[in-house]
Amino acid sequence: MTKETKIAEDFESLGLAAPLLQAISDTGYTAPTPIQAQAIPIALTGIDLMAGAQTGTGKTAAFTLPILNSLLPMASTSTSPAKHPVRALILAPTRELAIQVEENIKTYAKNTNLRSLCVFGGVDIRKQTPALKTGIEVLVATPGRLLDHVEQKTVQLNQVRFLVLDEADRMLDMGFMPDLKRILALLPKKRQTLMFSATFSKEIKKLSDEFLSNPALIEVARSNATNDNVQQKAYAVAQKDKEPLLAQLLKEDAEKQVIVFTKTKLTANRLSRALVRDGIAADAIHGDKTQKERIAALDAFKEGSVKALVATDVAARGLDISDLPMVINYEIPSAPEDYVHRIGRTGRAGASGVAISLVSEDEEKYFEEIEKLIKKKVAREKTKVSHSKHKAPRSKSQTSAKKSQKSNDPFFYEPYVASKNDNASKKEPRSTRSNRKAPVAALLGGLKKR
Ligand code: AMP
Repeated sequence: MTKETKIAEDFESLGLAAPLLQAISDTGYTAPTPIQAQAIPIALTGIDLMAGAQTGTGKTAAFTLPILNSLLPMASTSTSPAKHPVRALILAPTRELAIQVEENIKTYAKNTNLRSLCVFGGVDIRKQTPALKTGIEVLVATPGRLLDHVEQKTVQLNQVRFLVLDEADRMLDMGFMPDLKRILALLPKKRQTLMFSATFSKEIKKLSDEFLSNPALIEVARSNATNDNVQQKAYAVAQKDKEPLLAQLLKEDAEKQVIVFTKTKLTANRLSRALVRDGIAADAIHGDKTQKERIAALDAFKEGSVKALVATDVAARGLDISDLPMVINYEIPSAPEDYVHRIGRTGRAGASGVAISLVSEDEEKYFEEIEKLIKKKVAREKTKVSHSKHKAPRSKSQTSAKKSQKSNDPFFYEPYVASKNDNASKKEPRSTRSNRKAPVAALLGGLKKR
């Protein structure tokens, strides 16, 4: 379908209205990204769209701009909430992605009378209600919190004409399918649905068959492809040598800011503590941290006072980092797609990046799966690891094997305790929550551009 479509080289030829073009020009964008050039003209025709695009490709503007354009005739200066029903609903898997999307909407809609709002869990629902009641045309929401509002009758979805499922693959991974089905059942049948996903798995195709009607299909990069700008390296390393090797790599590239990926929250915590003890400014972000703690960690990373941000896959998802030079896979993900997402944090927008994987013998099988998926071989390098002063955080298996040798640091045997101020994040009011494969993720919003 897209092969025949003429690809626009400037925003003016995409068919967008003047107030939007002005806002785009104010942001400094000079040309549409490939996903924008392809998706915007299609979405403006009103048909459903299934788009394969990762974070960092400009996908947010690709769905936001045509929706705002279509809503312009309905924009109203009236203060009456009735004149501002929810007409566009954007569902995102995490609160931080939702915040990021809504910030984009505000930017692009600044010359219009269209209102937007973002609602997500982990904060007091009552604080979101007054803003909802004033009336807003574009609502960005995480699925669980949206359903909370539906239950409390603080939102009406019967006038929704546009639906976006952003990062649909991650919503499925996080077990949001039951919530999505409930939400979709509440929406008018006559609507346009745009679905964005980084990967085109069988499950995504099923979701698209179920929720979209004859969608146009576009894909900006080969699914599961890794970016050529990213230099991929791997070290064959024993589990016990991983932490000293990581510290070594971080010290060698002392000026670079790095996201270090772990598989579990526990390892993320332990590792960031071990790095700090080793003199490296590090912090961890993961789903057990409160919103406040995550924002503090991200702010410190933005300011440069944190050099290594240790993150779980879910926590790092959706991070909009324009110029991150390096990511390190401290643990190899068992789902190969996660590798693609992880290394997509670097080498964006033509910049070059480095992705280093620390592969233990046990993880070889996972790394081979990754190589199959990305259709690339990554040579395992060997390096000398210096153990001076380093103390590796123990993996789960090591921990159980050495249960009797407790660390002197209480951190290693006490459960994680969230800060006292954020009780709201523990609230799980609806029964469907227990059906989710994973708890609602902690995600951080985009870094400020430098
Ligand atoms: P996204 O994939 O939507 O998260 O966007 C990734 C980054 O690209 C964000 O920082 C956007 O502000 C930026 N961006 C989006 N569209 C353009 C464009 N046409 N030109 C330059 N930067 C863009």
